[in-house]
Amino acid sequence: MPSLNHDQDQREAANSGGLYVCDRCGLCCRHLLVEAYALDVLREPRIEAECPLGKRHPDLDILDACWILSAVKPCPFLGLDNRCGIYATRPGTCVGFAAGSAQCQQLRREHGVPPLLPCSNEQRKSMDPMTAEILQALLAPE
Ligand code: SF4
Ligand code: SF4
Repeated sequence: MPSLNHDQDQREAANSGGLYVCDRCGLCCRHLLVEAYALDVLREPRIEAECPLGKRHPDLDILDACWILSAVKPCPFLGLDNRCGIYATRPGTCVGFAAGSAQCQQLRREHGVPPLLPCSNEQRKSMDPMTAEILQALLAPE
């Protein structure tokens, strides 16, 4: 099972030249391996309550542990409307996953969902300023 790959994906989506907004197909939260780490659990304790501790070797520090949010089952925080139930405190891996990235588009292809299209100029104009600023920052050259 492929895991949610944020660093490479974010760069690929930014370099593709388009602005993409997630349409909440929910596929990444259902079909990718999503892991959280100790700092994510400190920020959002519900992760520990809801998700199995996936890797914990007795000789390793807690900072090396990881919790599995999604693997064979969808993430427990994914709502019926495909919204994230812990959006403000979701793990860093989820924060960094880019809509419109190669992995996002591949998932959609594999599940028969049409590709996510870049925002039109009209959509960009109607975005709230904060969203537009964040998306623009993603497109800035490294
Ligand atoms: S696969 Fe892409 S479009 Fe679908 S929910 Fe994930 S980021 Fe959004
Ligand atoms: S925490 Fe939220 S964004 Fe991350 S996999 Fe679960 S539902 Fe998706």
